Amino acid sequence: MKFEEFKITPEIKKNLEELGFKKPTDIQFKSIPPILKGEDVLAIAQTGTGKTAAFAIPIINIVQEQKGRTPDGIKAVVMVPTHELAIQITEVFNKLAQYTGVKTFSLFGGVDQAPQIKQFEDGVDILVTTPGRMFDLMSQGHIKLDRVEVLVLDEADHMLDLGFIKDIQDVIKRLPKNRQTLFFSATINDKIKKLAYSLVRNAIRIQISPKDPVSKNINHSVAFVEMDDKRFFLERVINENPDKKILVFVRTKVRAERVTNALERMGIKSMTIHSDKEQQDRLFVMEQFRSGEVKILIATDISARGIDIANVDYVVNYDLPDVSENYVHRVGRTGRGMQKGQAISFCSTEEKEMLEEIESFLEQPIKTLDIHKGDYAQTIDISNEQHTDWKTLMKEIQQKEEEPKKKKKRK
Ligand code: ADP
Ligand code: MG
Repeated sequence: MKFEEFKITPEIKKNLEELGFKKPTDIQFKSIPPILKGEDVLAIAQTGTGKTAAFAIPIINIVQEQKGRTPDGIKAVVMVPTHELAIQITEVFNKLAQYTGVKTFSLFGGVDQAPQIKQFEDGVDILVTTPGRMFDLMSQGHIKLDRVEVLVLDEADHMLDLGFIKDIQDVIKRLPKNRQTLFFSATINDKIKKLAYSLVRNAIRIQISPKDPVSKNINHSVAFVEMDDKRFFLERVINENPDKKILVFVRTKVRAERVTNALERMGIKSMTIHSDKEQQDRLFVMEQFRSGEVKILIATDISARGIDIANVDYVVNYDLPDVSENYVHRVGRTGRGMQKGQAISFCSTEEKEMLEEIESFLEQPIKTLDIHKGDYAQTIDISNEQHTDWKTLMKEIQQKEEEPKKKKKRK
């Protein structure tokens, strides 16, 4: 099956070619035709399998074919959990929609809303948004949703969960009744599935590889490491993988800052991303990691969902996630598309219960990485942190090297 065979416009086909997408992934192959037909869809497929294009391609096609034939207005709304994801998905839409005249914009909170409102003057066809900011602008009358034909909830199970459901329901209330609704995620539980079905009429369910929620491209394992020793093992992973992009997940914002400081003491540069950071800061950090300027990113679960960064070779669960499905999403930041990825989780004695929960969610055990006692002790021994005052040490070395030069000058 090739993209050529889909009933989509030549412009979209050309864009797919330019993106280097040769053939549809399984989820794209199965989702695109029913979405083009106007069906409601609940689609579950592993991380990194191209779910974004699975809804973007048919939506752009639907909107493009209507251009000039129906009144202007927002035709599709894509709701996502984070600012970073809104920007990323908007980029995918814009790449796929080149030369089609279809315009996609993103909305998210934490920044001035005036420039966002101004966008609407240029005409917006597709809106990619976090629920909060969308609700605010809608309440203020800046957004009109009476022409919306398609609603997408990406990371659907998360969007329908406690933190978001109220905002989502408020938005849904204001959408036209006869719209098409699409849910996409890598994970979903029965409760959320029921809720999803209650929001639509006759959703078609498309599920791919339901047996193992972790993508087959990811080689993932767990190592038993005590809390106080974790930083030494992280140092080791980093040093054994020079030049590789490593994404490190921690349980809290405070821990993110602590880990980055510990790494600094070891002479390793890293950055952090979490919800206490200013939006502009978050975007800057993502850009630095995306470009490879910074190779180590310490993140909380806000970055677990949806983020697609090329060449993330390694995911480290410095702490185990306290929500089981986040294990799947965190490790899913590597091994995307055709790429292979590695993931390791550090599990301390206190976290063993959580590990059990995760394994029961996965319905299989996670491979254990056995660390010999000697090896464990050596990892701590060889750490650069042993020279606690690392900077002073470097200074001393530098001074020693400079001394002979100075003497020479005096002569
Ligand atoms: P998901 O939402 O399923 O986690 P994404 O939509 O973020 O995955 O896509 C993961 C990666 O796969 C992206 O980098 C994307 O460019 C790439 N990709 C998507 N579809 C294709 C395709 N048909 N051929 C090649 N690469 C693809
Ligand atoms: Mg996605």
